[in-house]
Amino acid sequence: MPFKTYRRPVFPVESPGDVAALVELLVPAATDEQLRNTLCDHFAYVAGAHPEWFRPHQERVILELLGGFSVTFDTMSVLFRGAPDNCVEHLIARPRLRLDALAAIGTEPALTAAADLARGQGDASELEDIGFWTPPSGPLRQRFSSHRLAVERRPVADLAGLLAAEHPVGLPLDRVVRDPETTPVSWHFLSLRAAALPGVPAWPADLLHLVETNLGWGVTGAVGEDGRWHGESVEAEGAPDDEDERVNDEGDGRAMVVLRPYDDTLLYCNSHIMSTPDVFGTVGGPPIGVYSNPSCRSCHRLMFHVATVTNHIRGDGDGFRSLYICEDCHLTTSAASNWN
Ligand SMILES: [Zn+2]
Repeated sequence: MPFKTYRRPVFPVESPGDVAALVELLVPAATDEQLRNTLCDHFAYVAGAHPEWFRPHQERVILELLGGFSVTFDTMSVLFRGAPDNCVEHLIARPRLRLDALAAIGTEPALTAAADLARGQGDASELEDIGFWTPPSGPLRQRFSSHRLAVERRPVADLAGLLAAEHPVGLPLDRVVRDPETTPVSWHFLSLRAAALPGVPAWPADLLHLVETNLGWGVTGAVGEDGRWHGESVEAEGAPDDEDERVNDEGDGRAMVVLRPYDDTLLYCNSHIMSTPDVFGTVGGPPIGVYSNPSCRSCHRLMFHVATVTNHIRGDGDGFRSLYICEDCHLTTSAASNWN
């Protein structure tokens, strides 16, 4: 079973019957934090490899067992997806608001109810952290693709191999920005071919770039049909003094990635898949949520989360790197965070 947890006990997850047994454990888990945390890892595996095994239990978990069901939003948004309207009505009537569960259900009634509740309480930040924008009126807008794909790194032989790759890692800066002499962009992590990304809005160029600046935590660029950034701006508040001496164009860590489906060939551990050999992150799915997600500098809507990888995909820094776009304004942001 490609599933590993550092928590105990470990329960089997090899059949629909095993998942039914996990669901029964949610009863004692309501008053047992250690069991809740243990089950979290198990349900992350179910969401990635066998979400259909959970489907018969979806309604009961939402209606009766939510108190014992403590999972990451990434997991919840797979397992609760499309739950029936009586679940929405139940969640609205609960004394303790569960905007995350409503957003995870993702149906029109659920997104409408969550938006009304968020506007009523005057705070949409919880929803923004999990990738949902609350417009002035109407339902929530999901700002990520529900179709998750694992990002696996593969070697390339040389520069020609890099330039021919569908999703290259470590491109020369002149392939990524229009003016390498003046750009604040200092490092290229990864480019993703837009046509290979299910559920991502239309983009004017073939490639979406995930980069880094050594001047701050995030960097935004405008993109035209050539795909190269211009008009860059840096999010520099509280930025670290970076003594990084890496030079992008010397070619360290050049590689490519392939996008693999979520299934039972990945290794699930601590509610993520990055313990799988050569896997460094995920395309699609909600943002990781360890930092605020950027809003578009032009239209101010929450940006669309495309992918999050660890910086180990190229080089050995210390954190997550996330790629966002505003499909209307043709702006893209690369955000950086340390490990919490
Ligand atoms: Zn915009």
